[in-house]
Amino acid sequence: GPARPQAWRVNVVLSGLLEKCFPDEGRVCRLVGQERSLQRQQQPEAALLRCHQALDMAPGDISLLLLRAELYLTMKNYEQALQDASAICQNDPLLTKDSFFLLNQNPSEKSDVIRNTNCSVLYFILSLHQEADKAVLESILPIAPNTGLKRQFPNDLKDAHDVTDTPGKVPKKGQLFFEPVTTPCGHTFCLKCLERCLDHAPHCPLCKEKLSELLASRNFNITVLAEELIFRYLSDELSDRKRIYDEEMTELSNLTRDVPIFVCDMAFPTVPCPLHVFEPCYWLMIRRCMETGTKRFGMCLSAEHAGISEYCCMLEIKGVRTFPDGSSVGDAIGISRFRVLSLRHRDGYNTADIEYLEDEKAEGPECEELTALHDVVYQQSMSWFTSLPDNMREQILSHFGLMPDRGPELQSNPSGPTWSWSILAALPLERKAQLAILGMTSLKERLLAIRRILVIITHKMNSRQELVNSRERNN
Ligand SMILES: [Zn+2]
Ligand SMILES: [Zn+2]
Repeated sequence: GPARPQAWRVNVVLSGLLEKCFPDEGRVCRLVGQERSLQRQQQPEAALLRCHQALDMAPGDISLLLLRAELYLTMKNYEQALQDASAICQNDPLLTKDSFFLLNQNPSEKSDVIRNTNCSVLYFILSLHQEADKAVLESILPIAPNTGLKRQFPNDLKDAHDVTDTPGKVPKKGQLFFEPVTTPCGHTFCLKCLERCLDHAPHCPLCKEKLSELLASRNFNITVLAEELIFRYLSDELSDRKRIYDEEMTELSNLTRDVPIFVCDMAFPTVPCPLHVFEPCYWLMIRRCMETGTKRFGMCLSAEHAGISEYCCMLEIKGVRTFPDGSSVGDAIGISRFRVLSLRHRDGYNTADIEYLEDEKAEGPECEELTALHDVVYQQSMSWFTSLPDNMREQILSHFGLMPDRGPELQSNPSGPTWSWSILAALPLERKAQLAILGMTSLKERLLAIRRILVIITHKMNSRQELVNSRERNN
């Protein structure tokens, strides 16, 4: 018969639904299942009994006759086998054993069988997970008793998983499936609910089966049939669910209110920032940034009393790669500075209401003065950078990228010239000093601060060199 591959297992939600829609066929299907396992256990007589029972319920069913014919063959009862085989051919001379084998591959033939032999519906429908099977579905659904179906669906096509061990706000149990995916163990979840559960434990939330293979590929395909059933029979519930989803996406896209915050390291505007994300709450945060399309989050330092630093940098994700265990690495770049107004939590990570920082514009003679100061500090910075030992310079370059040029328009960027942030990131400074400069909205003040730091550092380097020189003289 058309043996299912070993790895191919039944979708629990869908098969439950179908058994309710087709109760008689369900009973037949169970008998067939028992027949197969009895045959595997070398109990042909008991298996034959199940065949008889199934055929009593669905007389003349081709797939059952075929099954019994095969069983007779293994029992070397050739006469009975031939009788069943000829009954099959009388019913449908075109449906030979060979074509029956093909049914698993060819959707159009699948739908033929379903139309002709009602009994096979349940058996074949369970394999319908592919986009190509949609047409087959069209031909099946009218057979289903419509009234019972509509009553039953809302209870079946809902989250049943328990995610109480997930920190933060738990996804609502009993919500209609949204983007349903089915695990290899046959359990169905909303894509996002499953991802969140898998962030914390690599097994099925319902049956606890290990899902290492699914995680290795992270290939969460939408279960087309379940989605189609929801679309057809629960369109009102679906549009409610979609509305909630859209509202959540809008909320998550807000870049001034409840902005996602990654408490990790110092970051500067225009400076590249490599990402290494090892904590599950931040895997969720990064996924959401990508899903909403903002790709942005705030990078902050932790502060003892306030929770996070007052001044932070908005980062934009340039690329991100997720590993089987859920951790991810990526590249981001500093976009702008902001001040934290208030701090909250969402699903295990911080969020903040923020106010963006922009430089005050200098005009007229002030602007000329600023340009002169800028050019001096730029030259000082570059000569400090080129005076560094090769290994230090290479380290800085590999971490922050090339040292930017002077740039065209001095005040075009509300965060100030790019090179000033690269120098600030490279200078051996304490976090506290870096934060103070990050919060300055006067370019003049920042340039003066950089100049002071350069003077101190150059002085230190020179005195160290003098010490070396005097030692050499004394030797
Ligand atoms: Zn869900
Ligand atoms: Zn499971």
